[in-house]
Amino acid sequence: MAESRKGASPKGISHISGDHLIDKSSARLTMWVARKPFSKGKTMNRKRLSIVMAFILALSVTATAVAPEPAKLPQIKQPDLSKLTVYPVLRVKDGDTIVIRKDMLSITVRLIGVDTPGTVHPSKPVERYGREASRFTTNLLKGEHVYLDPDPQQGLTDAYGRMLTYIYRYPDGLFVNAEIIRQGYGHAYTKFPFKYMEEFRQLESFARQAEKGLWSKNVLPIEAKPPPPVRESPKIYTPSPKPKPEPASITVYVTRTGSKYHRGHCGYLRKSRMPMKLKDAKLMYGPCTRCRPPR
Ligand SMILES: [Zn+2]
Repeated sequence: MAESRKGASPKGISHISGDHLIDKSSARLTMWVARKPFSKGKTMNRKRLSIVMAFILALSVTATAVAPEPAKLPQIKQPDLSKLTVYPVLRVKDGDTIVIRKDMLSITVRLIGVDTPGTVHPSKPVERYGREASRFTTNLLKGEHVYLDPDPQQGLTDAYGRMLTYIYRYPDGLFVNAEIIRQGYGHAYTKFPFKYMEEFRQLESFARQAEKGLWSKNVLPIEAKPPPPVRESPKIYTPSPKPKPEPASITVYVTRTGSKYHRGHCGYLRKSRMPMKLKDAKLMYGPCTRCRPPR
């Protein structure tokens, strides 16, 4: 930084602050433009001006480079992950809530210490940035496995029966709760005490200062479209959900004589194979028990 400042400034004023540097130099250069007679007409004038502009630009870039440094990121000491159990992530409900599989059960997990804008509340409009937050967590965790690390200060479940825990992604150990705040997709949720409260506050300050995600000046306005209603279960353990309904546009296959519909690769399709939209096939055919097409 110091080097580039020296390089861009005229001799003798390299020790003053960036702002002064611009002011004084611009003033001097402007004077230079005005004082010198323009011997070769307007072309020369323009050339000289462009040199001056380039010089000012270089100075502003230098000044930006010496701007105050962003808030420091806290050092967070992680637990010994090798002592924790790993669970598959079934799906991401929203930015701070996921569903994992544990002992053959689907368990809703609320991440400790982070609050992201909601997307799934049936009666409220989509909160600012909710969709982005949800997408961010989905990108981090879709199809992944996680280590769970509950915090005794928080208890095991919240008022909605959701398991409360810190989450580390397997196998790289990414601290997901912290990462969401650091990248500006949620704020530190400090209503109830927890182990990393101070660190999470610092992460939020960092994200705000860096204008990341939610704190960006270009955050999209509230989306008007209401989200699809999602039923919240008050129980801790909810039975495994049925396989996700496929979009209506999906294609399945039927045979000339059979009463079932199939996936494209099914062995029953050897004699005849007629494509059909799933929603149409379901009206007249049953799903094949061998290839198990979407229902
Ligand atoms: Zn089949």
